[in-house]
Amino acid sequence: MTQSDLEFDARHIWHPYGTTPSQYELFAVESASGVRLRLSDGREVIDGMSSWWCMVHGYNHPVMNQAVKDQVDSMSHVMFGGLTHKPAIELTRRLIELTPEPIKTVFFADSGSVAVEVAIKMAMQYWQCKGETHKNKLLTFKGGYFGDTTGGMAVCDPDSGMHQLFTGILPEHHFVPRPGCGFDETFEDHHIQTFRTELESLNHQVAAVIIEPIVQGAGGMHFYSPDFLKKVRELCDEHDVLLIHDEIATGFGRTGKMFACEHADVIPDIMCVGKALTGGYMTLSAVMCTEEISKTICASGPIMHGPTFMANPLACAAGVASMDILSTGAWIDQVANIEKKLWDGLSPCAELNTVDNVRVLGAIGVVELKEPVVMSEIQPRFPEQGVWVRPFGKLVYVMPPYVISDEDLETLCKAICTVVKSIS
Ligand SMILES: *Cc1c(COP(=O)(O)O)cnc(C)c1O
Repeated sequence: MTQSDLEFDARHIWHPYGTTPSQYELFAVESASGVRLRLSDGREVIDGMSSWWCMVHGYNHPVMNQAVKDQVDSMSHVMFGGLTHKPAIELTRRLIELTPEPIKTVFFADSGSVAVEVAIKMAMQYWQCKGETHKNKLLTFKGGYFGDTTGGMAVCDPDSGMHQLFTGILPEHHFVPRPGCGFDETFEDHHIQTFRTELESLNHQVAAVIIEPIVQGAGGMHFYSPDFLKKVRELCDEHDVLLIHDEIATGFGRTGKMFACEHADVIPDIMCVGKALTGGYMTLSAVMCTEEISKTICASGPIMHGPTFMANPLACAAGVASMDILSTGAWIDQVANIEKKLWDGLSPCAELNTVDNVRVLGAIGVVELKEPVVMSEIQPRFPEQGVWVRPFGKLVYVMPPYVISDEDLETLCKAICTVVKSIS
């Protein structure tokens, strides 16, 4: 990688939420193995981000690599319309085994955002099939993040999201304040009051409530009470409104349970997974629903969605391999250990006067600052400390691969403390 490659990139390639030319320095990655990224300038950094929640087993994992190689030699892709294949069938079997009993049907999509689009369409189609066409709105919570396509964007946080920019283009849905009861806080009735009132008055037009269970991710890394989630389920049942769980960030062990909904022992009607579904190897997502939903829709006709790369065999094979690794159960102790070590390692930050609070849940650690970071200043300081961390807004946060060692975790936490201190 030469300097001119990087200059070419900055001029011609858009990066996430970026500008061309890029306003930030880019770090080129040569290769990655385990929890380490090898940068083209020769440095090796510990990845604290799992490449945005995905690489739960680490990079270059022998089991994952073999599964993808074997699948390439058999077939990389085949259309899913009228055709089917073993990787899709096997991954579906695993997903149905992993999820609660009523969930029986799987729709494979290309990315998290598309999964959310499909989930929304599923909910809308369900009510249309029941002749309740007036139920065509969603109810959600502020502080959510559901992806960057139109449907998902419309339920993202209305203030920090992209609503202002796309007013008039996005469908309008209903919002209530974000869950106000922290993960360890005692749930009280007043926490759910606004939601209850809104649901009571709007249930005739609301098709579904959409929520990220337990952890609101990219909308603020906010952890909330399982009892709150339980109450949301109860109220949805009471008012005949479907419940969509977006487990794209939380699924596959990240919060200490296989799925975050297990903290609250609740079952959604529709559930989206993505990100870690393939161990981060390929882009793939899945929308799962109860038999009641699929039967109702299919009594009137087909589901109106069908992507070109639906159930891509390479991605499904990676998914099956990832399920194999998860099925050893090693992740349970790994995530519990990461939780403990993140508490130990990040708590010292709480003493700094620039820090509002430190919070940890499962393999997610968050240092929330009082002021937003200045990205161009803070970003290069992490590789200088031997780690890769990408903050956003007031949040310096990590969700490392489950396979990270104690020593690397310590380095990661120390690096965060050092960098946060340096901006005091
Ligand atoms: C990342 C994310 C999405 C969007 O997934 P993409 O693969 O980026 O389209 C949707 N919902 C949640 C909760 C996410 O964390």
